[in-house]
Amino acid sequence: MPAVISISVLTTLVWLLLGREFGYALARGISVLVISCPCALGLATPVAIMVGNGLGARNGILFKTAASLEAAGRTQIVALDKTGTITSGKFEFVRCECVHCHCIDKHNHRELLRIIAACERLSTHPIAKSICLAFGQFADDCVVTDAKNYAGMGVSAVVDGVRYYAGNEKLMQKIGVPFTETQLVGTAVYCCTDTEFLGDIVFADIIKTDSREAIDRLHRMGMKQAIMLTGDRESIAADIAAKAGLDGYYAKLLPEEKVQRVQALQQQGHTVLYAGDGINDAPVLAAADLGVAMGGAGADVAIEASDMVIQGDSLSQLPVGVTVARKTVGIARENIIFAIAVKLLIILGCAVGIFDENAMWLAVFGDVGVCLLAVANALRVLHIRKKKK
Ligand code: ADP
Ligand code: MG
Repeated sequence: MPAVISISVLTTLVWLLLGREFGYALARGISVLVISCPCALGLATPVAIMVGNGLGARNGILFKTAASLEAAGRTQIVALDKTGTITSGKFEFVRCECVHCHCIDKHNHRELLRIIAACERLSTHPIAKSICLAFGQFADDCVVTDAKNYAGMGVSAVVDGVRYYAGNEKLMQKIGVPFTETQLVGTAVYCCTDTEFLGDIVFADIIKTDSREAIDRLHRMGMKQAIMLTGDRESIAADIAAKAGLDGYYAKLLPEEKVQRVQALQQQGHTVLYAGDGINDAPVLAAADLGVAMGGAGADVAIEASDMVIQGDSLSQLPVGVTVARKTVGIARENIIFAIAVKLLIILGCAVGIFDENAMWLAVFGDVGVCLLAVANALRVLHIRKKKK
């Protein structure tokens, strides 16, 4: 503002010094002032972002802030959680293996399933939800107290007076009971007391129908890498990564190790998007340049820690979100460059007197006209959807 007012006063003074009459000099000064009104510049970005946000919302994508939208537009590497993000998170029961079988009903292993279901009752992890859905009724009469969550490992609870642990091999190693790893392919939940390994149940999780297509599309959009960060076993991670067409994967990661992986990529200068759904993903969602939470199946804390929320849980919304963001940021940039260029040109023309006859008319165009053009340009963001269909 001080610069613009100074230029305007200077223009008037220079014309007076050059011997022109006061009215003429004042008109030049005022045209500079009118065209310098920053309305178009002020509108250039917010209007584009508002339109982008609206289009995102219509597609079930929520950008929490304008900065999220910008980060989405800059994304170079996509890192994805496995369970609930690439895969459906709805586990199919494969088999139950009782080792020290205390089960009364040897055929159904009902006792082991009952204990595991009781331990998982308070957990929100997709594995826990699937277990409770399948075997929850076995544990209806259990008294569960003092439940604990071991991030990236599993859970523990006191069931009818005895402490039990249910989780992956890391949890068994932490408790320090000797156990045998299952040979079956699938996500395993091992169960033990403080001293004794009881057995395990194995689940199979299937890849979401649109995950492969979404990842292919992200590649086509020029992403440098699409990788998976999971807390699950190596064999499953390899299988899912191959099926989903990912560039790589890291398995057996604890929540803080996921953060380290993302930070390592950021230190190499990449902008990293991380998409996940669970409580365990909250730290990495906060650490990534853009944290994307699965809004439907996602845990509240994951949604809270994220910058962008996908409502329908389908991975194919990810490329749509990035496209909307790229287009929005591109248009905001176009608007700024256009507004500054037109204004500088007209200011210069008005000040030096090239546009003598039409100075004021042009100045008004440079202000209101450029504003309207910036708004019209921002509306182009809406065309992405039509093109897609
Ligand atoms: P991911 O979503 O990639 O599986 P998580 O950090 O959510 O990563 O979980 C890592 C692993 O920890 C799971 O694969 C599972 O083996 C184990 N785990 C986590 N929570 C539970 C739970 N409530 N019950 C059993 N196992 C669990
Ligand atoms: Mg998960």
